[in-house]
Amino acid sequence: MDKPSPYFTSLKCRECGRLYPKQAIHVCDFDFGPLEAAYDYDAIRPVLTRQAIESRPHTMWRYRELLPIDGEPTVGTQVGFTPLVKADRLAKALGIRELYVKNDTVNYPTLSFKDRVVSVALSRARELGFKVVACASTGNLANSVAANAASAGLKSYVLIPADLEQGKVLGSLVYGTNVVAIHGAYDQVNRLCSEIAGKYGWGFVNVNLRPYYAEGSKSMGYEICEQLGWRIPQHTVVPMASGSLLTKIHKAYGEFTRLGLVEGTPFSVYGAQAAGCAPIAHAMKRGTDIVKPVPKPETIVKSLAIGTPADGYYAIHAMKQTGGTAEDCTDDEVVEGIRQLAECEGIFAETAGGVTVACTRKLIEAGKIPRDGSAVLCITGHGLKTQEAIIGKCGEPRLIKPSLREFEEHVYAKDNAVA
Ligand SMILES: *Cc1c(COP(=O)(O)O)cnc(C)c1O
Ligand SMILES: [Zn+2]
Repeated sequence: MDKPSPYFTSLKCRECGRLYPKQAIHVCDFDFGPLEAAYDYDAIRPVLTRQAIESRPHTMWRYRELLPIDGEPTVGTQVGFTPLVKADRLAKALGIRELYVKNDTVNYPTLSFKDRVVSVALSRARELGFKVVACASTGNLANSVAANAASAGLKSYVLIPADLEQGKVLGSLVYGTNVVAIHGAYDQVNRLCSEIAGKYGWGFVNVNLRPYYAEGSKSMGYEICEQLGWRIPQHTVVPMASGSLLTKIHKAYGEFTRLGLVEGTPFSVYGAQAAGCAPIAHAMKRGTDIVKPVPKPETIVKSLAIGTPADGYYAIHAMKQTGGTAEDCTDDEVVEGIRQLAECEGIFAETAGGVTVACTRKLIEAGKIPRDGSAVLCITGHGLKTQEAIIGKCGEPRLIKPSLREFEEHVYAKDNAVA
């Protein structure tokens, strides 16, 4: 057993503030509010200085005092510190002064931001003594649980909707995990997982281990601030499934301000969803915090297709409180967004990345993100995992015989013809 962390003190109900021990629990007994990790910031302040952080390895664990484990991380110790790319060509295309892409398409080891949350959840699962870990997933989480459990020698089960992209299914199977595909939408998968978690002593990263899992997302926010030269970006656009990542980036900016690591400059967070499953964005547009479930999501953006988003309410309040808002986009706009990011910046994102780019374009066009501002786009997963979305939509290779004459006739001459 590790000595308890002096920094990560307890779990705390987001509704009533009651404190709970740091166990595998996720809801308050009194009001069913979600539990969240709580810290002793006065103890962290003198330890976690800019200098201390900069002296540590380039992984998400350089902010370890702000992550909810007791001992040293044991799973995913290489995760995070992905590039923050200054995206001048995309900025020009979208009509904004300054733009950055936080590129989690190259996160280690499974090419999505989910490696951040799984690294924390499985490190904590081991501290709590779990031998079997599991998750309900729209694809990327399953890939990350499968890979990280394999490398940690943990047995794993991943439960997914049966209609996921081939790259996501294969991207779990290859690690030798137990993949269970369910005829139904993500909400039904998630409900089944809650029942299994209650019956067997398994560590479900996004059910009974959710308070630990969710905190991993904060590292994306910390890295953005550090990579910008220790400042908070004016505008941050975040894709939303359950809404968790958005709330945690908001929390990360607040914590860095509180610790004096950045100045408390004003910032806004914006949420992006696909129109075929946009319960949070639609509630935001209606001007309410009551999120109406989407029973049958219909979109190519499967990674974000959560009809009953657990953190929707909190995401709406984070957007409102910071002067941000939400946007949604059609599947055609998603494809356009994927291509635009690839053609402008050489970054191949999955469908969720297309959503982020497309919604950002709409937010700028509507004047909600000012053209003279500076924005960061959270690009959360790699495009090779969702090839179905763009097959046949990016042109075809030109097929020729292996001869110079063929090349000149069919390629060079056509490309250099004088009109
Ligand atoms: C899971 C996921 C998200 C966001 O998930 P939240 O549940 O809102 O935290 C965003 N992008 C991708 C690619 C994802 O897999
Ligand atoms: Zn409570």
